[in-house]
Amino acid sequence: MAIRKILTIPDPILRKKSLTVDKVDKEIKSLMDDMLNTMYEAPGIGLAAIQIGIPKRIVVMDLSKDTEKKNPMFFVNPEITWMSDLKSTYEEGCLSIPNQFAKIDRPEKCNFKFLDYDGNPKELKAEGLLSTCIQHEIDHLNGVLFIDHLSKLKKDIIIKKVSKEKKEAERVVV
Ligand code: ZN
Repeated sequence: MAIRKILTIPDPILRKKSLTVDKVDKEIKSLMDDMLNTMYEAPGIGLAAIQIGIPKRIVVMDLSKDTEKKNPMFFVNPEITWMSDLKSTYEEGCLSIPNQFAKIDRPEKCNFKFLDYDGNPKELKAEGLLSTCIQHEIDHLNGVLFIDHLSKLKKDIIIKKVSKEKKEAERVVV
């Protein structure tokens, strides 16, 4: 299992639409293992394959608290089948938008279908954090970032800040 590099904005790859996975084979499982490791290492609670530069519809997640046992979840080809009209607000962040957070409204509950780690079709009813996270991750698969839910002004400020920090981090003083 390897740790992969997580892409950050304004990398144009993050805007790509990811493709459906035909079959959950050995290669896909190994990719999911890498994704999980990369997410734990970051650390984060969710990661889409496109965030490590692979345009496939795969998401890994672990919403367990630090003190609890790990609870890795794997979602291949996740698709929302129902959303509540009622919204809830969470302060969201993203491994591809380091150190930036913003309050985002999303449907409080949703149902979604997916293939699990073994390729079996499943459906889950989600609410609270799981509902927000799966919507955030499915957005990634469609090239959408949480900042796209903000006003243009707020979005531009975040993009500017992250781009500046990125440039400074790349600077080498010898
Ligand atoms: Zn994200």
